[in-house]
Amino acid sequence: MNRHRHEVASRRVDAKDAKEEGKNCLGKVYLVGAGPGDPGLMTLKGKGLLECADVVIYDALVSPAIIEMINPQAEKINAGKRRGRHSLVQEETTQLMIEKAQEHAVVVRLKGGDPFVFGRGGEEMEELLQAGVDVEVVPGITSGIAAPAYAGIPLTHRLYSSSVTFVTGHEAAGKYRPSVNWSAIAHGSETIVIYMGIHNLPYIVQELVKAGLSLETPIALVRWGTRPDQQELLGELGTIIEQVEQTGFEAPAIVVIGAVVHMHKILSGCRL
Ligand code: SAH
Repeated sequence: MNRHRHEVASRRVDAKDAKEEGKNCLGKVYLVGAGPGDPGLMTLKGKGLLECADVVIYDALVSPAIIEMINPQAEKINAGKRRGRHSLVQEETTQLMIEKAQEHAVVVRLKGGDPFVFGRGGEEMEELLQAGVDVEVVPGITSGIAAPAYAGIPLTHRLYSSSVTFVTGHEAAGKYRPSVNWSAIAHGSETIVIYMGIHNLPYIVQELVKAGLSLETPIALVRWGTRPDQQELLGELGTIIEQVEQTGFEAPAIVVIGAVVHMHKILSGCRL
């Protein structure tokens, strides 16, 4: 048993002992990053926790191959689809974690990619701490790095880019607002990586071009990055919207903009 699992296992014993002694028997919530999809990209620490979890509450974007790693005895709760509804609202998910932590030793909150990158992990952790629940974050490989990598696009390169910006393209009310300053983004770095950007892509492209990026600027869209069904669409700012329409390209995808996208020609297709 590796050190971490051993620690987790002894925690469970501690929690049981605490329960027997009538002490505070709250469990612990682990906010675990599931990585972008390929189960080989899950961290050892995260995998160890999935294998000994009592409860796992997971998001819609967590890949089925990762779900398979979960302890068969664990209660699995899909926070992306529950009671026939589209998804649990954030408060319900937090409340559920608090309740489960009162009943169990090891509660895993499993999130796609990294929990702290556009995943509301920071908010969830804050709310759990406020509720007096012990919580720890286990980072994951974020899709903004992994999806371009599997498409043969390094985000930095000595010839093409010495800076990267990660930005959300999702501007629906109440989410990752207030609005992104696309003009500043256009000039802030040589590589731009956009999460949740497909829906708003026409607007984003228009803003970036208005801010001065050339219509020939290379752009790549990578859907279901690192999964067996990964799809890529390569183009330029001036062509990509038409390409998306023609191919019916859909979310979830990472958008990469900048000269590093040229590297795709040289580096893609090298995956075993
Ligand atoms: N915390 C996650 C991001 C959550 S926001 C992370 O670190 O990766 C959800 C967005 O992430 C999606 O809309 C999409 O833009 C991106 N995303 C997540 N998984 C992806 C994947 N496997 N391939 C491409 N994009 C992905």
